[in-house]
Amino acid sequence: MEIFTKLLNAKPTTTPTNFGQAANLVRNALSPDVSLINPIELAPRAEIEAVQLERLRWSLSHAYNNSAFYKPKFDEAGVHPDDLKSLADLAKFPFTLKSDLRDNYPFGMFALPMEQVARIHASSGTTGKPTVVGYSKKDLDTWAEVVARSMVAAGVRPGDRVHIAYGYGLFTGGLGAHYGAEKLGCTVIPMSGGQTARQVQLIQDFKPRVIMVTPSYMLSIAEEFRRQGIDPRSCSLEIGIFGAEPWTESIRQEIETTFDMHAVDIFGLSEIIGPGVSNECVETKDGLHIWEDHFLPEIINPETGEVLPDGEEGELVFTSLTKEALPIIRYRTRDLTRLLPGTARSMRRMAKITGRSDDMIILRGVNVFPTQIEEQVLKIPALSPHYQLRLYKKGPMDAMEVLVECDPQAQGADDRQRAAAELANNIKTMVGISVSVDVRDPGGVARSEGKAKRVLDER
Ligand code: ADP
Repeated sequence: MEIFTKLLNAKPTTTPTNFGQAANLVRNALSPDVSLINPIELAPRAEIEAVQLERLRWSLSHAYNNSAFYKPKFDEAGVHPDDLKSLADLAKFPFTLKSDLRDNYPFGMFALPMEQVARIHASSGTTGKPTVVGYSKKDLDTWAEVVARSMVAAGVRPGDRVHIAYGYGLFTGGLGAHYGAEKLGCTVIPMSGGQTARQVQLIQDFKPRVIMVTPSYMLSIAEEFRRQGIDPRSCSLEIGIFGAEPWTESIRQEIETTFDMHAVDIFGLSEIIGPGVSNECVETKDGLHIWEDHFLPEIINPETGEVLPDGEEGELVFTSLTKEALPIIRYRTRDLTRLLPGTARSMRRMAKITGRSDDMIILRGVNVFPTQIEEQVLKIPALSPHYQLRLYKKGPMDAMEVLVECDPQAQGADDRQRAAAELANNIKTMVGISVSVDVRDPGGVARSEGKAKRVLDER
């Protein structure tokens, strides 16, 4: 790939010192400019944990003393911030749930007087009533800093042009990416989501090196390029930072091949801060480094609440370490993943998200995530990468129909039949469920302009 050569030629401008065990990895890798990396990202684990412990003490006390929600919650559980002697003691503290934010709608969990709250956002409400979050000026700075850090990890440099196609507004995607890119010193193109033909036009005219958008919408943009008769590989984009929804390695390959670009994963959620909680490094693409000096991760067994050791899959739980307006203690994200040791950075990684526990479909006793179906759809060249899952009742039983589209090059009746049979067969073998498959014309499956809606539940 041409881009690899470009990045390899981008030598670090300074020699790092005191960077701990990961330093060699970084020096030898694709990372464009080590001077842009905050030393804490490469510090020895003991140093990171010392910072975490000190900040965790502060965060627990701040929540207890200033949020009307946390004091009674801790008292009821019989714990006090002073009980925290080590990081492991966090397990004694109660969890925070999405329903707690809803029950205290809109501002009941805030720990600062409203006049010190500089910005309000709300979750996109994928799973019900939106939850409201708030930021102090310092929180906004922290947020911009972790997004800038994420962008550096993705290979972005000051001076790069960045096209932002995450939605602007209450959703944290657009403004989160925006201020991070500005903080890094990029030229920001605040396009927002939608108007797909215009997205292509602006990419062609403004020639951004970087795009930040949901992976599903990137696929719609690719399609629009082709519709306009432009080869997406010829465009200026070299790096895409994709997140806000689960996506598989197969989609990564699809996007990287379609655009001849790097596709890097960014993760976040409004309750913790927004995008920029963790990000992949472009040189390794082996999971997302969590910015552990601001967000402390745990993995728990979602049924028992017990903390699981690193490496085991379970529900991701986060505690904010520096947030002022809305400190959040042991927030259950419902996202399923596992924690892995650091590689390109000393900070631990989370594996790509398998899915959210509330996206899990149980079909005749088998647990299925949309990402598992996605992998199978992407393996069949006669199908395009757009899909939805329709759940319906077949007599007393639940059933699933996979809605897909034929590739524009494979529209014949035979091609479609073969693709449908192959997909149903692969899903049966690899995922363990029987499904029916509806192969539609190109454009026959609803397109995403932000987070894709993968499941149509008609039960
Ligand atoms: P919501 O979707 O709950 O209304 P947010 O807009 O804050 O609220 O979205 C956060 C959620 O989006 C995360 O909890 C996670 O489920 C999903 N998400 C964000 N980034 C990623 C990613 N890179 N991979 C998978 N899922 C992601």
